[in-house]
Amino acid sequence: MKMKAVFFEGPERLLLEEVEVPRCEEAGILVRVEACGICGSDIRNYHSGLKDNVTHQIMGHEIAGIVVEVGKRVNKFKEGDRIAIAPDVSCGECFYCKRGWVNLCINHKMIGTHFPGGFAQYIYLSNEILSRGIVNFIPKDVSFESATISEPASSVIACQERNNITLGDTVVIIGDGPIGCLHLEVARARGAEKIIMVGLKRLEMAKSFNPDYLIDASSQDPVKEVLKITDGLGADVVIVANPVKETQEQGIEMVRKRGKIILFGGVSRSDPMTLLNSNLIHYNELDVVGSFSYTPISHEMALRLISQGKINAERYITDIVPLERIVEGFTLAEQGKAMKVIVKPWD
Ligand SMILES: [Zn+2]
Ligand SMILES: [Zn+2]
Repeated sequence: MKMKAVFFEGPERLLLEEVEVPRCEEAGILVRVEACGICGSDIRNYHSGLKDNVTHQIMGHEIAGIVVEVGKRVNKFKEGDRIAIAPDVSCGECFYCKRGWVNLCINHKMIGTHFPGGFAQYIYLSNEILSRGIVNFIPKDVSFESATISEPASSVIACQERNNITLGDTVVIIGDGPIGCLHLEVARARGAEKIIMVGLKRLEMAKSFNPDYLIDASSQDPVKEVLKITDGLGADVVIVANPVKETQEQGIEMVRKRGKIILFGGVSRSDPMTLLNSNLIHYNELDVVGSFSYTPISHEMALRLISQGKINAERYITDIVPLERIVEGFTLAEQGKAMKVIVKPWD
């Protein structure tokens, strides 16, 4: 049996191919992919290459599908189960895994990089993925398309939990893409008082998520505007949720003393160096922290928040493309013409 899949062959080279459907081994399951989101990191990797210089691989890691074949030795899943899949696979044995910080696993592998991903009609989940990865059931009232939002939502939930965004906080979110809007919804659910979003390309779409303030970085100075809104004090927390280094520099200048700047978005692999005003960090006793990925519980929670409507998954999905038009999907997202683009491999 054959299936369609899009292979990453090298920077800016994606090829649609017909290949054999993966064989289902005794300890794995075969999943028919119903929807797979295009992530900001997919677009970055499309331009600059996959981690560890991997090529001839199927990308895509925000996956929702239906179980179609179950290996003899698998008990947890049965045919017809609707599941959401997140990319991280940890080793379970290193320094970090032993402490439960599986997102920081030294031997960290990812679906879409080290294992074939979701830009295909089927995906095979091996025993390694089922036991050390992140696979959860989709609640009945959540569609496959909405379920793909659980992946990006997971990292946002984990970030805000670790950094304790809470009641009364004034939070600045730099970035008006899906990640920025997810930060907005999660911060609101956690009780943040004032949410200020700094955007550029997707202001109109971001508006529908109702930030308390929306700053247009193309015509306004974000630092000045945040200081104005906070009576000159600065925000409690700034979340830098885009891949732009300059906005990290700005973040430092719009946070209050003893405030926190969270570097949430990765920047280009080939150009990661950034300049931060170290005197501001020093004299104002700022916390500059990083945030990356999540542990399995965040993914479970994301699916619940979507089911409860605290995350309005449908509102993110502006475009749906078949495998044949995947590059067009990348471009739409990159140019800011789309919020979230979903690939449906059977369309
Ligand atoms: Zn993602
Ligand atoms: Zn590990």
